Formats: sequence, C-alpha cells, structure tokens
Amino acid sequence: MNAPLLDLSYTRLPQNLYSAVYPQQVTNPKRLLLNRQLAGLLGMDHTWLESEAALQLFCGQTGDDRPAIAMAYSGHQFGHLSPLLGDGRAALVGEIVSPSGVRYDLHLKGSGPTPYSRRGDGLSTLRAALKEYVFSESFAALGIPCSRSLAVVTTGMQVMREQAHPGAILTRAARCHVRVGTFQFAALQQDTGMLRSLADFVIHREFPELDDDGEAPYLRLFEKIVERQAVLVATWMASGFIHGVMNTDNMALSGETIDFGPCAFMDYFNPGRVFSSIDEYGRYAWNRQADIAVWNLSRLAEAMLPLLAADTKTAVAMAEKALEKFPDLFNAKFNKLLAEKLGLVNPDRGLLKSLLAVLAQTSVDYTLFFRRLAQVAEGENQDVVLTLSEEKEPLVRWLNEWEQALPRHTDRQQLAEQMNRVNPLYIPRIWLLEQALSAANNGNMQPFETMLRAVQNPFFEADEFKGLGQPPSRGQSTLATFCET
Ligand code: AMP
Ligand code: MG
Repeated sequence: MNAPLLDLSYTRLPQNLYSAVYPQQVTNPKRLLLNRQLAGLLGMDHTWLESEAALQLFCGQTGDDRPAIAMAYSGHQFGHLSPLLGDGRAALVGEIVSPSGVRYDLHLKGSGPTPYSRRGDGLSTLRAALKEYVFSESFAALGIPCSRSLAVVTTGMQVMREQAHPGAILTRAARCHVRVGTFQFAALQQDTGMLRSLADFVIHREFPELDDDGEAPYLRLFEKIVERQAVLVATWMASGFIHGVMNTDNMALSGETIDFGPCAFMDYFNPGRVFSSIDEYGRYAWNRQADIAVWNLSRLAEAMLPLLAADTKTAVAMAEKALEKFPDLFNAKFNKLLAEKLGLVNPDRGLLKSLLAVLAQTSVDYTLFFRRLAQVAEGENQDVVLTLSEEKEPLVRWLNEWEQALPRHTDRQQLAEQMNRVNPLYIPRIWLLEQALSAANNGNMQPFETMLRAVQNPFFEADEFKGLGQPPSRGQSTLATFCET
C-alpha cells in the first residue's frame, strides 16, 4: 500500500503568497463519495484509498509535520476590488504528479478556518460539496475544462447557514489554482520579483513550452491565458452554462472552471438569463460571459504590466493587442461548437445567428432542443421540436432553414448519432438537483447517485435515468440559485 507522494511546490514561492493552515481534526469523518476513475488517473493506490490515512488526508491531516496551505489572492467581486480574499474555506494539501506527468493540486473545500477566513467559518455544507461534485463530473463527461472532484467526506458537524446543514469536505484536483486574483494580489504588493516568480510558476506548471522562450515569455503567457479563457467561455456558453460568479478570484489561469457556487445550466432559453440570487444587475448573465472574461483579463493585464515592458505605455499597447484577439478566438470556438450541435460541418454564420434568435423567441429548453433536432435529422416529424414551445411558426421557419443547410447525401441515422454524441441528454438540471440535494441532506443519497451516474454518461438514453432529461414545467423552473457560502 503506497501513500501518494505529495509535493508542495507553491511553498517555494515568496511567502506572502500563502499561509500555513492546520485543519482541525474531524472527530467522526465518513467517506461518502470517492471518484475511483479520477484516483486511477492520478495514479493513486487503490488499497491506500481505503485506508484511514486517506480519510484523514481528505480532512486535511497530511500525516506529517508539513502543514497544508491557503493561497492568498485579491479579487474584483461584482466589479469591486477586495485587496485580500484568499482561500477562506479551502486548503491545498499537496500536489500529486499523475503517471502521465501532469501535476495536480489536491485542494480541500470546507476543512475549516484559515488566515483568510475573515468572518466566515471555513466550512462547507454537504449540499455545496455535492453540487460541485456533480457539476465537475458532468463537465468532465462533456469535455468542458474544469477542476475534478475526488472525494466527499461528511464531518458529522452541523454548518449554520440560514439554517443548520450537514457539513462536508470536498477534495478536488485541478491543474493549477492560480487565479487572476492571485496576480492582482502580487501586483498590489508592488513587488515585481514576486510577480515574476508567480508568472514563472504558472509558465512552469501550465505552459512549459514557454520555459525556453527567452525573450518575452510573459507576453506569450498572457496570450496563452487569453486563448484558454476564450475557449472556456465559448464552451460554457455553447453548453448553456451560466457560471454565475465570474469574479476575478474565481477565474483560474489554467482555463479550468473553478467555483461552482450559484452556477446552473439554463433550461428555458433566455440570453439574459441569470440564476444567482445576488447577481442583481445581471452582470454575469449567460450572454455577458465573454465580455466579462475580457474585463477580467484586462485586470490580469494591468497586474502583469511590469512584466511586459519597462515602459508602461509600451506594456499597455502590448496587452491591448493580445486582448484584441479574444473576440475572434471566442467566436471561432463558439460557432464551431454550435455548428457541431446542429450536425453541420462548417459554421454557417447566418444560420447560427437565426438559431440564437429563434431560441430566444421561443424560449425552448436549450438542452432538449438539440436532442429533438437529432430526431428530426433522423426523419421524425418536426412536431418533436415544435412541442417544446407555444411559438410554433418561427420554429418551423428555422427548421426548414436548418434542413436546407444539412450536408447532402449524408446517412441521416449516422448524422443523428453524431449529433447525439455532442448534445447531452443528461446534465445536472438544477430543478432536479435541488430535489436530490434535499434528499441527501435527509440521508438519502440515492437520487443524487442516480443523477451522478446519468451525467457521467450524458449522451446515452437509459431507463435507469428516466425523467432526468426532463425540463421543469414553466412553473417549476428554478428562479434563483445561491452561493452556498
Ligand atoms: P466565493 O464567492 O465562493 O468565490 O468566495 C469569495 C471569498 O470568500 C473567498 O475568499 C472565499 O474563500 C471566502 N469564503 C466563502 N465562503 C466562506 C466561508 N464559509 N468561510 C470562510 N471564507 C469563505
Ligand atoms: Mg471562489
């Protein structure tokens, strides 16, 4: 039985960037979920995973004198800068290098207070842990870059929010937890050496190809980050996903989705859709996400200016030029993904534009719409799509336009299969997830576990998952989601 070898290369960075944390002992931890598939990917020993030491690690006890750490970061929250946020309810217990050579952070959420907790308790509810688990598993199956969930342990403690909730600790793995807010923090220390160390760390971890770039790795680094963010947000949007809290402290430079607080997949299409109860002005609405990514990247650029050029004016011009590439990168990815969803080989600008218009006009269920479209591709009557909305006429017009655009002489059954491979039937629908989380809170994990299996196999219809592809009735549609903090 081999315990995983855990490194903590982050502690080789300047000390201001993190603080040691000694998570409190959990007296009665119970393992609720373990992601064996991910553990295999990380090269973890299956016998060790069953051990008490593994359970203790999932509670933050590293088993030696080495503390875990909480990372320091700043962040623009809904546009307002908080100079010091940091991991207030998270701890980095170590980094593990997978058999394929990729280094992952093992990060706990809910393991107790840290020096950055401010007035918070550092804890997590079971609900929040399960929500992150099911969303990250869904993302993994859908190919959306994200952190992964390795384990959920219940603590046996109650966590007070508006009411008492069972407490839990989530262990997640991500390629790198450095965020836009981490650079903002380093920039605020006015210590260019610290900023450079951080940038070198990110290059080494995430963009090793820039290691030998000599001259100007930091501009290339910024360009690469821009590319990854453009791809990430395009992928979110093509999936109908609304992150909900795109504060600069929640945007990882690795281009992985982190922070699954108020997030949701949209059901009834509305481009301005917002779920988060605290997003009063729709700052993070579905159709604002690309603009917000650019806004966040501008904050990153500001923080990185001293690394780009000695002269600020030159540095600003360099950053602006790099950022100007975002719209093209975003549109290329978004259009490509939408075209695939429609069964088209090449994006047809006109058809994609009219698609978004007709979706908005008819407010159909975004996910189900594409599944039904595959049925039409296979020869079923257009009615399977038309029943999704009261507004039939615009749908008929658009369907005819789409049928014209489909590749000629294609085997229709193959086309439908191809569409069903990119259009999920099962996503963690928020209205159903709510029910599963309530059951879990009452000790019944069965609805959650069924949903988890469904979203892990999102493209194949199965009797076991009956009802899980179902949109809410218009009255049942979830109006608001909460940060669960
Ligand atoms: P979030 O909105 O989840 O990204 O959190 C914003 C900031 O609040 C981060 O610094 C978190 O670590 C911190 N935070 C959120 N919830 C808690 C909590 N329960 N205890 C301590 N800090 C928290
Ligand atoms: Mg956060």
